[in-house]
Amino acid sequence: MKLFDVYPLFDITPVKAEGCYVWDKDGNKYLDLYGGHAVISIGHSHPAYVQKISDQLSQIGFYSNSVQNPLQHELADKLGKVSGCDEYSLFLCNSGAEANENALKLASFITGKKKIISYKKGFHGRTSAAVAITDNPKIVAPVNESPNAVILPFNDIEATEEVLKNGDVAAVIVEGIQGIGGIRLPDIAFLQQLKKLTEKYVAALILDEIQSGYGRSGRFFAFQYAGIKPDIITLAKGMGNGFPIGGVLIQPEIEPWYGMLGTTFGGNHLACAAAIAVLDVIQNESLVENAEKTGNYLMESLTAMDGDFEVRGKGLMIGMEFPFPIAEIRKKLLFDYGIFTGVSGQNIIRLLPPLGLTIAQADDFLAAFEAVYADVSATFAEKK
Ligand SMILES: *Cc1c(COP(=O)(O)O)cnc(C)c1O
Repeated sequence: MKLFDVYPLFDITPVKAEGCYVWDKDGNKYLDLYGGHAVISIGHSHPAYVQKISDQLSQIGFYSNSVQNPLQHELADKLGKVSGCDEYSLFLCNSGAEANENALKLASFITGKKKIISYKKGFHGRTSAAVAITDNPKIVAPVNESPNAVILPFNDIEATEEVLKNGDVAAVIVEGIQGIGGIRLPDIAFLQQLKKLTEKYVAALILDEIQSGYGRSGRFFAFQYAGIKPDIITLAKGMGNGFPIGGVLIQPEIEPWYGMLGTTFGGNHLACAAAIAVLDVIQNESLVENAEKTGNYLMESLTAMDGDFEVRGKGLMIGMEFPFPIAEIRKKLLFDYGIFTGVSGQNIIRLLPPLGLTIAQADDFLAAFEAVYADVSATFAEKK
């Protein structure tokens, strides 16, 4: 059977991974500054994580949500403590899109309203309601187009209030840091105003922390830089370090009635064990602090470099925007220097490494990038 093509593929077949490194089937070693798309939080094949999942599977891997599952409580308690969001309640699901889908449903149920405000260059997933509020017409099928989706300019508080004023908005959803859109930061004042205005006009404020959360930004959640508490927070990518799990954190004022949200696979034993192991490692190895430290080092070093590119980001969520297409830079980094990087559009490189990235590993990237950039930018200068 032929496989449905999903992403453009590099001709590389990873067969083994450890920490911040990946090996392909020919034995080539790569430094992973992409984290399999911001998913690998605690590092590949972390021994404590492997042990926890293996032990759990040998006990019980799955039972449905119709019975008690103490692992869900353990996960919720730990997540509350590590994130500093103890007062929220947790709904467990399987992916980011599903987390957002449930967050939107919840906001609409609770407020009795329909409209959702989201932002340009935002991404919230590929399921029906999530894709309708995603600013990418190429992935929105006619069946997903919604009159309830209002996509506004990012960081534009006046435009947001204009729409909120009508009183028919169920939720405003915004990424803690826009990821796929090219690592764009919300202004601190914008988030603080959003909090005030959503309260005033009785809409839910949903922070999509699927990519920016779980310590990546140098805080457990990127919105914590703004000192606010959203009504709903959505999670996925880094939560399971590759094991599929997503979550919705819900403020206590929002009381879902029994049966409002549900799932077959969500919160299963194996997924909970994986997510508990992730939080343990994040805590034991101070990975949030490390993300901030190594992230600052990378940001400062890149900013100090001589070059025609812009650097944006927080922690280990870094974007580099170039005035020319970056396919060549990425290819050279990968095939000449063994370094995986992420991408956004044609001209933005995204760095989303495991949160334990060391200064020495950052230096390996900086040296390689400097060489590749000199090489590639010279070619573009010649062409001009
Ligand atoms: C990846 C991502 C999603 C979708 O998550 P899936 O697990 O792929 O469904 C939603 N929002 C943001 C910000 C993301 O980065």
